[in-house]
Formats: sequence, structure tokens, C-alpha cells
Amino acid sequence: MLVLEAKLKGETQQFELLDEAIRTAQFVQNSCLRYWMDNRGVNKYDLYKLCKDLAANIEFPWCKKLNSQARQAHAERAWSAISRFFEHCKKQIPGKKGYPQFKRHQTRASVEYKTTGWKLSDCRQFITFTDGFKAGQFRMWGTRDLHFYPIDQINRVRVVRRSDGYYVQFCVDVERNEEREPTRHTVGLDVGLSHFLTDSDGNQVENPRHLRQAEQRLKRVQRQVSRKQKGSANRRKAVNRLGRAHLKVQRQRKDFACKLARCVVKSNDLVAYEDLKIRNLVTNRHLAKSISDAAWGEFRRWLEYFGKVFGVVTIAVAPHYTSQDCSNCGERVKKALSQRTHICPHCGYVADRDHNAAINILNKAISTVGHIVTAAPDAENACGESIA
Ligand SMILES: [Zn+2]
Repeated sequence: MLVLEAKLKGETQQFELLDEAIRTAQFVQNSCLRYWMDNRGVNKYDLYKLCKDLAANIEFPWCKKLNSQARQAHAERAWSAISRFFEHCKKQIPGKKGYPQFKRHQTRASVEYKTTGWKLSDCRQFITFTDGFKAGQFRMWGTRDLHFYPIDQINRVRVVRRSDGYYVQFCVDVERNEEREPTRHTVGLDVGLSHFLTDSDGNQVENPRHLRQAEQRLKRVQRQVSRKQKGSANRRKAVNRLGRAHLKVQRQRKDFACKLARCVVKSNDLVAYEDLKIRNLVTNRHLAKSISDAAWGEFRRWLEYFGKVFGVVTIAVAPHYTSQDCSNCGERVKKALSQRTHICPHCGYVADRDHNAAINILNKAISTVGHIVTAAPDAENACGESIA
């Protein structure tokens, strides 16, 4: 699955119609959730039926305006939130189970269409929304890649509202696979605060400077927001600025994570990293830490994505004792967080703390995988044969 994104250009009044569509989609989704809460043993098909009833109900005339497949898509969203919650309960994951939440009104929101309710122009530069809201034709910015795919491969179209405008996303049904020569090289990655990452060869990647700068800027804009009077136009403007500042950070982070992950995956046959629970970390009070955690989470998602694309094995190992154990002799060497160097009293091995951890991570991964078939002709085999 591939997602292509373009920015929409149109009249103010057209965007108001898109807002209506988004609001209706949320209404459908929330109604489904409410129905599930109020009734026992509701399944996905009950929710589909509810969508039909909503459209027929004269009390909610706006529901009929939304494309029928879009109504279904939002029932599916509600259902996936519900089943995710059940899944968490069943697996008895400690902590919050993620009870499905109602969609609140906020800037970032979206409406999802399937294969109907929209139409692309032949030149692929315009999109027309054809459902009951009659938002009409929009020009799209950044659709060059759209030419490569036939229209019947597009199985979802999403309109996403952000602080700086409206975007359309096309979900294209393709498996992306790329050729890669095996490098016979494996790597372990350790992430930390002082460096973005340290690998098992001792290479380090610094924290990107723009994250630090963005953090300063976010703080400043946040202060501006809190100084403005509630409900005033100035406050609304400041809130919008804050939203844009967040967007900018997100985009820079994505760019950094994506490039680095691609580079790491392309030059290795196996990539090992710690299985950190990012969700617990991001709530950390220190902004600096939460920013680098978010970047790490993004980086990990791209690692796994490119791992699939290039047929490279990616393994998340349990993080226990990776920084304490000696990577040379295996003895446990306790050290405080402030101690940046690993000095082993048992075998005399000295290394940078993160470097030592990265080697441990790689060793852990290799011990779980068995041997690695680097010369396998294709990705499926490489994974299948190497798992002992
Ligand atoms: Zn040692």
C-alpha cells in the first residue's frame, strides 16, 4: 500500500463544503461507537446497517449527502477502534486498553472515500467530489506521481484537514519491492539522548539540529497562545500558528527519519534495535526527550517499512540490560545513566556506553534469528530460512 498526497486548491466556500463532509463522517463514526456502547454483541455488519438507517433518517438529513461508501468507511474506522480495544483486552496488555474515543471537533480531521464519490480529471491535476455535498472541482498540487498508477488501483481517497490547509491522499494498492545486493553486513542500533543513534560499528548519528530549533520555536508559540485572551481572534490566530509549527516539526522529523532509515536498511542484511515502548516515553515531561522519542518512533516505522521493501530482516529485541552487559565477555556491569563509558572490570573491555549497547542489541538479535542467509535470492526466502 502506497499513499500519495497532494494539496487541494479551491474557493473558501468549497472548503466549507468539505468541512461539512468531514463533520458528517465524524458524526457517522461517533454514532457507530454510541450504538456499540448502548447495545450488546454488536458486530461490523450491524454498523453497516446503522449507516443505512442513518442515511434514511430524516432527522439527520446531512447523512444522506455523504457518499454511501464513505459512510461505510467510517463505520469501519469505528469498528477497527473497537476491535483494537478488544485485542488489547484479550492480550492483557498492561496499562491503558485504548477504549474507543468519540471524535471531537478539532483542526486535524479527515473524511475517507473508497472508489466512488470522487473523480480524477484525465490530466490528473483536478479532483471533483461528486457526493451530496457538491464540493466540486479542486486543483491539486504535487500529483506528479499519480500518473504512474491506473485509477482502478486507487482504493481509498482521503481528504485531510490540517492547520495549513486541505490535503488529499490517494491510497494505491501496490506492493513496493526493490532490488538490493546483499552486503553481508549486520548492524545493531542503540538510540539515546546524547546522539540520535549509535550503531554496533561505533558510528554515531547526531540529533538533528532542526528538532532542537523547532523545540525552541514551539515553546515560544505556545507562550504566545497562553498570553492571548480566550475566545479572541488573536488567540485563534496564535493557535493556528502553533498548529503550523507542529506540522513543520512533523514534516522535518518524517524527512529525517525516512532518509536515515532507507540508508541504514540499504547497507545491511539485518538491522536490530530495541523494542522500546514509545507510547510510555512520549508522555515524558521533558520536551527535548519527547521530541527525540517521537523521532525514534517515526524512524522505527520507516526501518520496518524499508525492511519489507528491500527484503532486509529487521528485529526488535527486548531492551533489558543492553546497556549494562559487557558485549565482550557477557558479564553484567552496573552503571549509572550519567556514566558514558563502559569499562568492564572482568575482561578489561572499554567502549562508549551506546556502542557497547548497540553490539549487545545485535548479538541478541542474532541469537534469536539463528544464522542469516545473506545470499538468498529473494526476500521471502531470506526471512523464512533464517528463522531457526
Ligand atoms: Zn567484559
